[in-house]
Amino acid sequence: QKFVYSFTEGNKDLKDLLGGKGANLAEMTNLGLPVPPGFTITTEACKVFLETGSEPASLHKEISEHLDSLEQQMGKRLGQPDNPLLVSVRSGAKFSMPGMMDTVLNIGLSDASVAGLAAQSGNERFAWDSYRRLVQMFGKTVLGVEGELFEEALEGVKQAKGSTNDLDLTTEDLKALVETFKAIVLRETDREFPQDPREQMDLAIHAVFHSWNGDRARLYRRQERIPNDLGTAVNICSMVFGNLGEDSGTGVAFTRDPSTGAVGVYGDYLSNAQGEDVVAGIRNTLPLAELEQLDKKSYDELMAIMHKLELHYRDLCDIEFTIERGKLWMLQTRVGKRTAAAAFRIAVQLVDQGLIDLDEALQRVTGGQLAQLMFPRFAADETAKRVAWGIAASPGAAVGKVVFDSYTAVKWSRSGEKVILVRRETNPDDLDGMIAAEGILTSRGGKTSHAAVVARGMGKTCVCGAEELEVDTKRRRFTTGDGQVVEEGDLVSIDGSTGKVYLGEVPVVPSPVVEYFEGTLHAGADVQGGLVQSVHRLMAHADVRRRLAVRANADNAEDANRARRYGAQGIGLCRTEHMFLGEERRREVEHLILADNDKDREQALSALLPLQKGDFVELFQSMDGLPVTVRLLDPPLHEFLPDITELSVRVALAEARKDPNENDLRLLQAVHRLHEQNPMLGLRGVRLGLVIPGLFGMQVRAIAEAAAERKLAGGDPRPEVMIPLVGTVQELELVRDECERVLAEVAKSTGVKLDIKLGTMIELPRAAVTAGQIAEAAEFFSFGTNDLTQTVWGFSRDDVEASFFTAYLEKGIFGVSPFETIDRDGVGSLVKHAVVAGRATRPDLKLGVCGEHGGDPESVHFFHEVGLDYVSCSPFRIPVARLEAGRAAL
Ligand code: PEP
Ligand code: MG
Repeated sequence: QKFVYSFTEGNKDLKDLLGGKGANLAEMTNLGLPVPPGFTITTEACKVFLETGSEPASLHKEISEHLDSLEQQMGKRLGQPDNPLLVSVRSGAKFSMPGMMDTVLNIGLSDASVAGLAAQSGNERFAWDSYRRLVQMFGKTVLGVEGELFEEALEGVKQAKGSTNDLDLTTEDLKALVETFKAIVLRETDREFPQDPREQMDLAIHAVFHSWNGDRARLYRRQERIPNDLGTAVNICSMVFGNLGEDSGTGVAFTRDPSTGAVGVYGDYLSNAQGEDVVAGIRNTLPLAELEQLDKKSYDELMAIMHKLELHYRDLCDIEFTIERGKLWMLQTRVGKRTAAAAFRIAVQLVDQGLIDLDEALQRVTGGQLAQLMFPRFAADETAKRVAWGIAASPGAAVGKVVFDSYTAVKWSRSGEKVILVRRETNPDDLDGMIAAEGILTSRGGKTSHAAVVARGMGKTCVCGAEELEVDTKRRRFTTGDGQVVEEGDLVSIDGSTGKVYLGEVPVVPSPVVEYFEGTLHAGADVQGGLVQSVHRLMAHADVRRRLAVRANADNAEDANRARRYGAQGIGLCRTEHMFLGEERRREVEHLILADNDKDREQALSALLPLQKGDFVELFQSMDGLPVTVRLLDPPLHEFLPDITELSVRVALAEARKDPNENDLRLLQAVHRLHEQNPMLGLRGVRLGLVIPGLFGMQVRAIAEAAAERKLAGGDPRPEVMIPLVGTVQELELVRDECERVLAEVAKSTGVKLDIKLGTMIELPRAAVTAGQIAEAAEFFSFGTNDLTQTVWGFSRDDVEASFFTAYLEKGIFGVSPFETIDRDGVGSLVKHAVVAGRATRPDLKLGVCGEHGGDPESVHFFHEVGLDYVSCSPFRIPVARLEAGRAAL
């Protein structure tokens, strides 16, 4: 097995093996772009290392061979005293994890070779500064020394000189610092800073391997749903220096604007600096366009390369580059992260440029991005007080209480507060807080700072580089340009689309994409640079491609109407329990529960019948011409009775007053009688229909009479009756008999011929397992994946997310809640079985899903794969389901 690839051997399609960075360095090398030579150690080597605790046996030798040829090519040897080759050791996994893993620069410097670097560069101060950086970075990331110790030592020297600027340190200061740093390493680790360059390199490689499992990296992967078992590659790259003087520098660039998708020159440049300085947001950068004045030759070359890369990758690329004494070097490229709006716009722009077709464009946007575009944004509120105008780093409108550290952000958000995390700049240690916050606000750093990159990746609102703000983390406050003090806990509103920061709470308005779906904004409207048109075109293409129909979970006319506007092709789940609420209905439901003879029960049911019928008439009208699946009553009856404590108190008080209320007494008895230890596994669903005579019959009659009325009025009602919580075909057969009898009666009494399908939910494991039998009595199945997940896992759907799921997620037992994304292996395989068995019995069996998973992007792909006919989800998720159903069909 080969564990090491020279940059000349790989290509962009080897990301699994070489990581994103390694694969793209190879691709650029082979395109003839100026990449400093180097090689990549594969993710396979990392996996072996993490599993066994040591390198694969052949790795050392393979690295030696590649290092040899690198040394020959460069004409110098690693750490050679008079003319050293220096290398960087960089992490690089398949998926970009900005700043989450380790990197060590300047490997190869030692007490001996520092003089060689001084001679090479003609700059002794630079050589010692590089050595100082190596001991510090190596000490911290490879040897695990507390980074603060180095920082304090550095601060101490600066303070003694009365300076705050690193650049004021002299060669002598730096030499002394190197000695101090080495002493810190010895004191803290009981070993000398290694002088052997190969030992430095090997230890750095191991540290990068280890950093795959660091806390930050694990947390980031969980958030981004990146699998834990991929491992990272390690890139060994010959060093080029952006900190050799004013004719050197380093920068980051995008081939288009990653926040809007607009074509142009976007990026940041920092002269006389090393790569990490830009991404860390430590010093404020120049806009890339200004590089043209500083170094026109490099600028022109960079523009030509960016153009070439975009045509080659046929997508937005982001780039890291360094200029060493007027010579441009490419350190990294990749298909760049972008905001949701930019993703839609760029995909359609590339279609119009003829670079990709609509299918590919559709593949490049996601339902998650579409969902983000549907969030509201700030109203243009003239009264809101703008206190700062920073960089619009990641769009969205976020309102929350100001907090200044990650810990507080997490604590407050757990207790239900919305918070805005305010920092001078963020670093990977702030990740927890960034996840917990509604939005992120920093006073330093550009569009490529850590805060900006991470926030965009998470779809979080972020304003960065709001320089007029003076952030005082220690005193937990910030001061605005005009001297106002904002304390921890004060409300602010930040607009990640404009970069504006307001004090207090600014009202929000719907997004233009929602207005477009609502039909209040024309598809051709020119807003946000063609965003609505881009969404419109990709939605239309998704509709052409998709095989899955999309229905809505809706139980009132308002939701049904919205669902229709959003493109629903019917209702997949009308939960009828809401039709038993409201004062008048509740009273009748109480009568029904308390009835101890047929007459009382029938009276209660006949009182409910016209009310339910009225609801159905409205619903069938909204969905005229489209199927409406009505589910008969599902929840346990005691949910409709008064709260037991409240009722007990009422009864006790009445007794004390010697004025007992007969009805309350009977209700209390009923509440006690109906009480269950496990109501979710108790008297609910089809079981109610079987033990309460006439209940399901009344509901079916209401449906049939409503349909007849609509038909007589010239409408086209298409109801379907669905029985919940069936576990065996016998239950269904019994209910079916009753339903058919009622349907025949209604047909006779109204004279209207009705064709109403009868089907069942599959939401218990037994139903899925015996689906072949159940299909004998069902004309359709709708998978109730909420209950199915609950019963397959034995997880209470109402409790677990708040109790032990966090621990499960942290332990990696699953990467995402099975109530959110379908568990393919467990719940999914039951679904698959039921699909096959059901169709074997009844080839024209109609199959759908109406659990929450019906609107979850990843789950939609699964339902497409197993061959369902439709998914059903809440009205707001319908566009997402349409888009993902289209993508799934590609
Ligand atoms: C389900 O169980 O998936 C379902 C749709 O029904 P409910 O959520 O109403 O239990
Ligand atoms: Mg259910």
